[in-house]
Amino acid sequence: MEKIYLDHAATTPLSQKAFDAMKPYFSDVFGNANSQHVYGREGAKAVNDARQLLANCIGAKPSEIYFTSCGTEADNWAVKGIALQNIEKGKHIITTQIEHPAIYTTCKQLEKYGWEVTYLPVDNEGFVSVEDLEKAIRPDTVLVSVMFANNEIGTIEPIKELCAVAHAHGVLFHTDAVQATGAVRYDVKDLGVDLLSMSAHKFYGPKGMGMLYVRNGIRIEKLLTGGEQERAHRGGTTNTPGVVGMATALDEALSTLEEDDKYVASLRDHFVERVLNEIDDIYYNGAKDTAKRLPNNANFSFRYIEGESILFSLDLAGISASSGSACSSGSLEPSRTLLAIGVPVGTAHGSIRFTFGKHNTMEEVDYTVDELVKIVKRLRDMSPLYKK
Ligand SMILES: *Cc1c(COP(=O)(O)O)cnc(C)c1O
Repeated sequence: MEKIYLDHAATTPLSQKAFDAMKPYFSDVFGNANSQHVYGREGAKAVNDARQLLANCIGAKPSEIYFTSCGTEADNWAVKGIALQNIEKGKHIITTQIEHPAIYTTCKQLEKYGWEVTYLPVDNEGFVSVEDLEKAIRPDTVLVSVMFANNEIGTIEPIKELCAVAHAHGVLFHTDAVQATGAVRYDVKDLGVDLLSMSAHKFYGPKGMGMLYVRNGIRIEKLLTGGEQERAHRGGTTNTPGVVGMATALDEALSTLEEDDKYVASLRDHFVERVLNEIDDIYYNGAKDTAKRLPNNANFSFRYIEGESILFSLDLAGISASSGSACSSGSLEPSRTLLAIGVPVGTAHGSIRFTFGKHNTMEEVDYTVDELVKIVKRLRDMSPLYKK
């Protein structure tokens, strides 16, 4: 085997259909979607159609969809935009210990400027508790932000229940749905959320394209000030090919969501079963109930060895996986998420995330387990910590 990609939580390959749909907007149909002439109108039509399609995909109205340059921008905007809009009400935000850096570091930044942030703990499978949230809400709380599904361990949070508690206390609710979108079917009206972020490149769409859903009636301060784009809520010339690619990719993903999830979960389940049978001294991190876990995610901690060494050896064997998340690799800090679910610091260092995709095959999964068994044995034989 030449190359095996098992890092779909970091990014996914662009779908052929999305690529084809985008192409004209890089060349012939290049007009600025906000220009008042025929070129502009062609761009505007593409953007309007895509906005309608995306809105249909998540049960929203087109007027509730705001395009952004990535998931990170959508997350920043949700938190900072609601914080700034509601200074008069208060400066307290509630989030969790396991958020993606796009939320976590944004909250850390607000703390420097006088906001108070409560980081809710999670249980040992990564679930946030409704009771903990209720206890944390204060009269000056302006926003609750809880991720829909975790990017490292795949745990799917009880968003509908959490949102209901926030609303019962008159507090707005945002969810970072970047990992969930394309893998979990949802409807924003049914969830009840006020704001929701997504990112195209996590569901076989283009990189550099995100979206923030903002329920009609919610007031939010701007993050990117500029022209009158996005109904005067977000300055910056519209990325027409990106918008078209994102809408096409999400529509395509939802059209086969159940079959794709089932297939991807069958790869993951086979992988997990073999790994647990063939390798000792490991923890399987995240939700045990597969209905509450992203179908593509498997995360293991291998005791007595370093995750970086395993990754390096896997890479030599042509297998691309990840330690923690792509956004924190390169840092030697153990994963915040793994520490939050109670994995000991030393063990957290020996953790690897495998995230499968719809183009992976069972042969690739078996090859990966065969290699992994050899790698772990070799590294442990060299490890002074490991006693045979
Ligand atoms: C990837 C990711 C993001 C960031 O999205 P980008 O488009 O890469 O900026 C945010 N949150 C979660 C949960 C993610 O997995």
